[in-house]
Amino acid sequence: MDQPARRHGDRYQGRTAVITGAASGIGAATAERLALEGAAVVLADVAGTAGETVAARITRAGGRALFVRADVSAEADWDRVVDAAHTFGPVDLLVGNAYTVEVAPAHELSLDSWRRQLSVNVTGSFLGFRALLDDLRERHGAVVLTSSVHAHAGIPGHPAYAASKGALLSLCGQLAVEYGPEIRVNAVLPGPILTAAWDRVSADERARSVAGTAARRFGTPAEVAAAIAFLGSDDASFVTGSHLVVDGGWSVVKASA
Ligand code: NAD
Repeated sequence: MDQPARRHGDRYQGRTAVITGAASGIGAATAERLALEGAAVVLADVAGTAGETVAARITRAGGRALFVRADVSAEADWDRVVDAAHTFGPVDLLVGNAYTVEVAPAHELSLDSWRRQLSVNVTGSFLGFRALLDDLRERHGAVVLTSSVHAHAGIPGHPAYAASKGALLSLCGQLAVEYGPEIRVNAVLPGPILTAAWDRVSADERARSVAGTAARRFGTPAEVAAAIAFLGSDDASFVTGSHLVVDGGWSVVKASA
C-alpha cells in the first residue's frame, strides 16, 4: 500500500467515496485508485461475489473498503449504501457508474427494457445524489457521472443506452448549477475501454473500434479511473459541469474522406 499510495499521492486522505458498478471494470478500477489515494471506499453493485472480491483486494492492500449489494435503481437500497458509508464518515464523492444495456433497435426494444436501462443508468445516479445530498453539501463534495461517447455518436442497437448517456450529461449540468458552489458535478465520457462490456463484441468489431482511435488501442479501466480521480479531487476545484472525454481520440478521428 505504501509504495502505490506515494506514487499516486494522497488527495483523498480522510475522505469517503461511494462508487456504483464497482464490482468490475471502470468502477472497480476507480474504487482501487481512490483507495490508493487514501479514500475509504464503498462499492455498490448488484454483483455480490465480484464486489466482495474487489473490496477484499483493496482491504488486503491496506485500504479501507466495504461492499454493499445494491441495485442503484431501487431507492430503498440507497439507505444501506448510506449506512455503510457512514461507518467511515460523511461522503465526499459519489461516482455514478453502474449501467445496464440491452442491444436492440428501437422498434424491437420492449418498453420494459427501455425503462430498465433508463432506470439503472440515469435514475440510479439521481437516487444516489439525493441519498447523499446532505453529506455532499456539508463536505463541499463532488459527483462524477460515467457517461459515454455514445451520448454524442450513434451505434445501431443502442437507443436506450445512448439516451441514458446523453441524459447523464444534462443531469451533470443541471446538478452543477443547482447545487454549486457547494457541490461540483462532472462527467467522464469513455470511449473503447476493455472491460466485460466488450465480452459480447466480435473480434472484427473490436479491431474496428481500436482502429478508430488515435491511440490505436483500447483504453484501460485504470485510465478512466485516473480521470475520475482527478475530477473528484481538489485538483479540479474550478471544474464543474464539465464533460471529460477519455477515448484515446476516438471522437476526433474522421472515419472517411
Ligand atoms: P462492467 O460491466 O465491467 O461494469 C458495470 C457494473 O455495473 C457491473 O459490475 C454490474 O454488475 C453493475 N451493475 C449493473 N446493473 C446494476 C445495478 N442495477 N445496480 C448496481 N450495479 C449494477 O462495465 P464497464 O465497462 O466498467 O462500465 C462502467 C461504465 O462505463 C458504464 O456506465 C458504461 O456505460 C461506461 N462506459 C464504458 C465503456 C467501455 O468501453 N467499457 C465505454 C463508454 C462508457
